[in-house]
Amino acid sequence: MAQQGRGRLDDAEFRRRVDELKERHPLSGVVGRAVKLKRAGREHQGLCPFHPEKSPSFYVNDAKGFYHCFGCSAHGDVVRFVMEREGCTFREAYRRLANDDLPTWTPQERAKAQAEDRLEDLAKEQDARRFYADAMPVAETEGRAYFRARGITIDLPDTVRFGMVPSWRNKETGEWGRKRPAIICGAQDGTGAVVGIQRIFFKNDNPALGTKDCKLSLGTIRGSALRLEPPGPAVILAEGPEDGLSLMQEGPGLPVWVPFGTSMMPAVVFPPEVRRVFVAGQNNTAGRVAANKAAISLSERGLEVRLVWPAATFDDWNDQLRGAAR
Ligand SMILES: [Zn+2]
Repeated sequence: MAQQGRGRLDDAEFRRRVDELKERHPLSGVVGRAVKLKRAGREHQGLCPFHPEKSPSFYVNDAKGFYHCFGCSAHGDVVRFVMEREGCTFREAYRRLANDDLPTWTPQERAKAQAEDRLEDLAKEQDARRFYADAMPVAETEGRAYFRARGITIDLPDTVRFGMVPSWRNKETGEWGRKRPAIICGAQDGTGAVVGIQRIFFKNDNPALGTKDCKLSLGTIRGSALRLEPPGPAVILAEGPEDGLSLMQEGPGLPVWVPFGTSMMPAVVFPPEVRRVFVAGQNNTAGRVAANKAAISLSERGLEVRLVWPAATFDDWNDQLRGAAR
């Protein structure tokens, strides 16, 4: 043991120890030293340490062992957290953690938290499916104005709907807030089943006035995607529904999918017939970095990947569709 500790661990042994470390220490214990965390349902919530913010959008899930920021999309496990915070390598982060006196939890506590977490996830998926089923096709609704204002005039697929949904839920009482009009996009898992939704709310609840970054997801978003067309041998991944629909309007029949953010692209679960993936990027610095990252992760999964960009004078695909140069 002492001898092995001095030398360099082989990769398999190293990975085993990293897994063991993740199992023995709840993530909130490690993150909680750097970030003031507050319980929020089954998770912990705090101000994101990776981007400046005044209201907390940073969540830590002990059962899953992941943190996620809904503001800047920072996402990772305990080792990634230390790497990003301290700017060190994976092995160095592990070393710091392994030598630290971290809070621990027992396998029983962990199993219990995971079981409860899974139940809550299933309940959220059920809520998402209910809201999706209650919504109607956008076609003849006032939701049409939202897309028309963006120059999107094609017939919308059935997976993009309009309905009345609450934007929040009281974590303590479980009560939903008042219902508001929203575009409701279905997030489908690898089999095509709806397991989540994205809700797009409007300024003053008026679709014609557009939205100001009020897009909220419910259910299982990671790994799923809004399918604007059924899958074929190739699929195009777009950043958001507006970009995706713009691409379809420019190229009718294109098999566009939307994983709700470029950072979610690498996690999308495809049916086996999908062999090629086009990553439709955006022309700003953050967009370029994220799209390149996504392309690398997807090709590491054995998919044939190509990056496509809007013309250089446009920021994104919807700007290109509307001819709105930057
Ligand atoms: Zn953040």
